[in-house]
Amino acid sequence: MQIKLWGVRGSLPTPMDREEVRSKLKSAIEHARTAWQQEPGRDISDVIDSMHPGQKSIIGGETTCVEVRHGEVELIFDMGTGARRLGVDMMQRGHKGDINVLFTHTHWDHIQGWLEFQPAYQPDNTVHFYSCLEDLEERLNRQQHPEHSSMRFSDLPCKKVFHYIPPGESFDVGDCHITTQPLIHPGGSIAYKVEAGGKTFVFATDTEFYGPEIHERMKEYNRFFHGADLLVMDAQYSLEEAEQRKGWGHTAMTIAVDCSLYWNVKELVLTHHEPAHNDENIWKLFDEASEYLEEFAQQDKELKIYTAKEGDQYELE
Ligand SMILES: [Zn+2]
Ligand SMILES: [Zn+2]
Repeated sequence: MQIKLWGVRGSLPTPMDREEVRSKLKSAIEHARTAWQQEPGRDISDVIDSMHPGQKSIIGGETTCVEVRHGEVELIFDMGTGARRLGVDMMQRGHKGDINVLFTHTHWDHIQGWLEFQPAYQPDNTVHFYSCLEDLEERLNRQQHPEHSSMRFSDLPCKKVFHYIPPGESFDVGDCHITTQPLIHPGGSIAYKVEAGGKTFVFATDTEFYGPEIHERMKEYNRFFHGADLLVMDAQYSLEEAEQRKGWGHTAMTIAVDCSLYWNVKELVLTHHEPAHNDENIWKLFDEASEYLEEFAQQDKELKIYTAKEGDQYELE
C-alpha cells in the first residue's frame, strides 16, 4: 500500500505569507553559510539535504486529501483543497475509469477541493462516493448551489455512484477491506481502516481525544485502532489549545502520541494542522511531541512519529 498526503491543513487553506518565506530563506542561508565555511566546495544538494525539514521543506497549506494505492485500487480520502493537485496528477498519468472517494464528513475543509478536481469533468470516469452519510449527494449538491458555484453537481460530466455504509460497518473495494468507525467531532466524522496485503492503514482525521474520560475513550477505541501499521491522525492543537477549545473536535499532538502508544500503533503521522500555526510553530509542537515520546514510551514500544507535510509518501509492504 502506498499512502500520499495531498493536503494536511485543518479548517481552512493556509498559504505561507511573505514574512514566513523570508524567515525560512534566512534560516536556510545561515545554515548554508556555516556548512560552506566548514567545507568549502560542498555540493549544494548535499547542503540542502543536511538542513532541518523546517528549513528545506514546507508543511503546506492545502486542506485534507489523502491518496491510497494498492495494486490497481486507488482510494481518495476526503476532497479538501489538496484534491486539486491530486486531480492534476491523475490526469497527467492518464487515470481512467473508476475513482473511489471516501468522505470522513462534509466540513468545508474536506469537500471544497471537489470543485476543482479535474477527473470529475471527464465523461469516461465513474466516481464512487463512499460515506456513512445517507444524504451525501444532497450535501454535495448544496455545495454547488448556483449561489456558491458556477457548475451544479448534477451537471458534472463524470458518472456518479453513491455507496452508503452504515457507521461501524465494513466493505470491500477490490482487495482492500475497509472498516468504518464513528469519531468524536461536532456533526460527526468517520475513521477508515484499510486492510490490504497484510498491512493496516488507519485514517482518523477530525476527532477529539481530550478530557477526564480520555482513558475510557482510548480503551473504547482500542479494538478499531489496535496494531495499525500506519495511522494518520488529527493533531491540530497544542495541549493549551486543546484545553481552551474543548468541544471543537480536535486533538493535541502529545495526546495523539498517547493514544497511539496505548493502541500499539507502529507509525503515527500527525495531521490537520492548525491554520494559525506557521511551519515554525508546527515543528516546535512536533519536537515537543518527540521529546514526550522519548520520555514516556515504554521500552517495548517502538512507535515512530512524523509530522504530516504536503507531498509526503509512506509505503507499507
Ligand atoms: Zn477538518
Ligand atoms: Zn471537521
